[in-house]
Amino acid sequence: MNRYSAPMPDDLRHFMRARSVECPHCRAHAHRPCTTPSGRRLLPEPHPQRISAWARTTACCPACQVEPGVECHLDGWPLHDGQVHPQRDDEARRAAL
Ligand SMILES: [Zn+2]
Ligand SMILES: [Zn+2]
Repeated sequence: MNRYSAPMPDDLRHFMRARSVECPHCRAHAHRPCTTPSGRRLLPEPHPQRISAWARTTACCPACQVEPGVECHLDGWPLHDGQVHPQRDDEARRAAL
């Protein structure tokens, strides 16, 4: 057993991919890290809204059956604050593997 062979954490890879879209929260451009509201500090992790935005652009939603690019909805209403169903987030992660 080699304890130095740990793979890159899934979450980290996921964060890198989420950067391929613009951040709807802090307005970071595609492929740029998220920043604090003042724009002075770079954040190591993208905002949750950005991960949702990425899932929305790349994956279909298994929960509400929408196609990539279409917002998730519940009972005919878009989810609050651009959120997506957790199943869609999983779907995006799986598709990107
Ligand atoms: Zn951001
Ligand atoms: Zn959905």
